[in-house]
Amino acid sequence: MTADVIIVGGAVMGSSIAWWLTKMQPGLDVLVLERDPSYTQASTALSVASIRSQFTTAVNVRISRFGIDFIRNFDERLGGLGQVSSLGLKENGYLFLSSTPEGAAALAEVAAMQRSEGAATELWSPDQVKARFPWLETGDLTAATFGPRDEGWFDNMGLMAGFRNAAKAQGARFLTARACGLRVEGGRVTGVEIEPKDGGRALVACSAVVNAAGTRAAEVLSWAGLDLAVEPRKRTVFVIDAPNARHPDAPLLVDAGFYLRPEHEHWITATVPQDDGPCDSNDFEPDLHLFEEVIWEQLYARAPGFDAVKVVRHWVGHYAYNRLDQNAILGPHPDLPNLYLCNGFSGHGLQQAPAVGRSLAEHILTGGWQSLDLSDLSVERMLKGAAFREQAIV
Ligand SMILES: Cc1cc2nc3c(=O)[nH]c(=O)nc-3n(C[C@H](O)[C@H](O)[C@H](O)COP(=O)(O)OP(=O)(O)OC[C@H]3O[C@@H](n4cnc5c(N)ncnc54)[C@H](O)[C@@H]3O)c2cc1C
Repeated sequence: MTADVIIVGGAVMGSSIAWWLTKMQPGLDVLVLERDPSYTQASTALSVASIRSQFTTAVNVRISRFGIDFIRNFDERLGGLGQVSSLGLKENGYLFLSSTPEGAAALAEVAAMQRSEGAATELWSPDQVKARFPWLETGDLTAATFGPRDEGWFDNMGLMAGFRNAAKAQGARFLTARACGLRVEGGRVTGVEIEPKDGGRALVACSAVVNAAGTRAAEVLSWAGLDLAVEPRKRTVFVIDAPNARHPDAPLLVDAGFYLRPEHEHWITATVPQDDGPCDSNDFEPDLHLFEEVIWEQLYARAPGFDAVKVVRHWVGHYAYNRLDQNAILGPHPDLPNLYLCNGFSGHGLQQAPAVGRSLAEHILTGGWQSLDLSDLSVERMLKGAAFREQAIV
């Protein structure tokens, strides 16, 4: 077996890259390897599926500005090949809160940067928060930022399925197989070893490889003797019923110790565990105590309507966490220039799939960044330890 480009990982990133590659160069032989087509452990399937312009690094604002337009017009952008008529985008906005003077100054600074990138971010006083969302307690606040458009949530599986369907329609091949090794010769990757689902082992020769293996990205690089500071970090997400808090126009609220957004008649909420650290890729045991012990008290203090709350469901997903700076790691690896990384999204990768897929496809086909300059997110910065930090990690 051979392929021009092999993509390891067939969730949202792998599918997006496959679609962009086959759109830009019809006839290119793209092979996507996916170990688990049920996607039960993929971050894509376990995502909270939201998009915002409110990032602290300009490149992430640009990536999301492209993403929101793509998500809004998904069917049309895929030329009808995605077989997904709409991603059900709900544009309720994000509301970031601050309770300290330093936090207020930081929000003002990043809001100005976001606006200079075309975002609609508004800087609000506590009174403005109260006027718009009277069910929130605002006495302790110093400032807030709100995105009145281009922010909200959408159908995560629809995004992935649309890209995959459209990529297949353009000739990309999706194979259920686990990649288990890289063949390296003369400073280049010349093939990927695979374990197909019906057993055995095979080598697929190729001209380029993309690592889109999510939380398992470091394992892929280890096959070539290379390190990557990306690890799985567990996030337990709670779906709660709060009969005294019905606010369908609520934004995605980012408070000091938790985030919250409506989901149909319920709410979704989560927090970062205090002892946050790496977990095993197969560890999906929920941290159930986090709702009662960490989230609920803070949630009730912010919104007293959450006095009666029942957890109706929970799930566990893993962030592919970039230990250096919590930003994506994109582009060719300097030690193996035909091995492309698409890793380390640290909890904000779903919304980045349209723009990142386009940019990586352009890089693979032309040898450089084209529509968007993503060099801030290069592999080189990781090798130098030169952090390019995203502060707005939720
Ligand atoms: C709880 C939670 C909430 C989130 N909320 C948001 C949000 O609101 N907004 C947002 O933008 N992002 C969010 N994210 C992050 C987002 O979901 C991810 O960044 C994004 O889905 C990453 O996509 P991916 O394709 O890179 O990785 P994944 O979805 O993890 O896919 C990687 C794929 O690679 C496959 N694979 C791995 N190793 C191999 C191998 N050796 N051979 C073959 N296949 C392999 C896996 O089976 C998997 O299907 C959230 C994530 C979590 C966990």
